[in-house]
Amino acid sequence: IAKRKGKGQYRYFDENVEKDIMKKIIMVNELRKAITRNELYLLYQPVLDIKENKILEVEALLRWKNGELGEVSPVDFIPIAEETGLIREIGYWVIRKACNQVKKWENENINLKVAINISPNQFDDKDFFYNVKNIVTREKVDFSKIKFEITETQILKLEKRNMKRLIELTKMGAVISLDDFGVGYSSLKNLAFFPVSELKIDKSFIDHININKKIEKLISSILFVAYKMGYKVTAEGVERKEQLDKLLEYGCNKIQGYYIGKPMTESDIIEILQRSTII
Ligand code: C2E
Ligand code: MG
Ligand code: MG
Ligand code: MG
Repeated sequence: IAKRKGKGQYRYFDENVEKDIMKKIIMVNELRKAITRNELYLLYQPVLDIKENKILEVEALLRWKNGELGEVSPVDFIPIAEETGLIREIGYWVIRKACNQVKKWENENINLKVAINISPNQFDDKDFFYNVKNIVTREKVDFSKIKFEITETQILKLEKRNMKRLIELTKMGAVISLDDFGVGYSSLKNLAFFPVSELKIDKSFIDHININKKIEKLISSILFVAYKMGYKVTAEGVERKEQLDKLLEYGCNKIQGYYIGKPMTESDIIEILQRSTII
């Protein structure tokens, strides 16, 4: 159908567009109720520390299982949560849940740090810092046990006062890591001004290991620069042994990806920790 929009201008609506809009409306309505209905849960993906040859940290990855929509990927619902502002409430839920899990592991003598993804929209709440502090304190977790991941693209867009809120977190002892590093349009110079101390090299680089020599050179150069600057580096999306071997050769600190383990439940994390050798 083409709808008339002023003189000689037409806007085309196709059935698919309408369907997408309907789907989005349903998703927003369902997402609003996701927390109270207990539809959200976290999976944890192990991160291998090369030097210790141990899993010392995990990344908390949000999952949503809805009665009508089934399993919805965070790639689909996080942007909607961000657009609607629902990410604030969901974000606090994630932090609380992740802290609670770290504490549970601690009580079982399992020493793991947890990395929590955050969206810049969460900082729009002027009480963000206090709320986080309260959650972490109430769960009796030390700030050194949690990290926050923010993507390179998103940190670039942070307003000044939100950047201040991010810095407040680091003052409490939380580490900030730059997620999906290398895919944004950030200049290297920016690295000097971000309040981060870790980088996560995006999977799109790792995918090219053993395929594109120039990308390999880029990866080893990123590692060189990052270490000069005192950052720790995690390689994301490592799926194959050849990739791991190259990254070891380049001296990468930490490895995350299906080759080490997929995002898994908290009990599966305990199981993988009990294995004597990871790689
Ligand atoms: P991310 O933070 O970069 O997380 C890494 C994503 O790559 C995860 O997808 C993970 O399952 C996937 N992954 C890890 N290793 C491999 C691998 O070897 N191969 C492949 N093919 N994929 C791998 P997931 O869980 O679907 O999450 C997607 C994105 O959604 C995350 O990217 C993050 O940006 C966002 N996200 C997830 N949970 C949260 C959350 O609690 N809050 C916010 N704000 N964003 C979240
Ligand atoms: Mg992440
Ligand atoms: Mg990432
Ligand atoms: Mg990502």
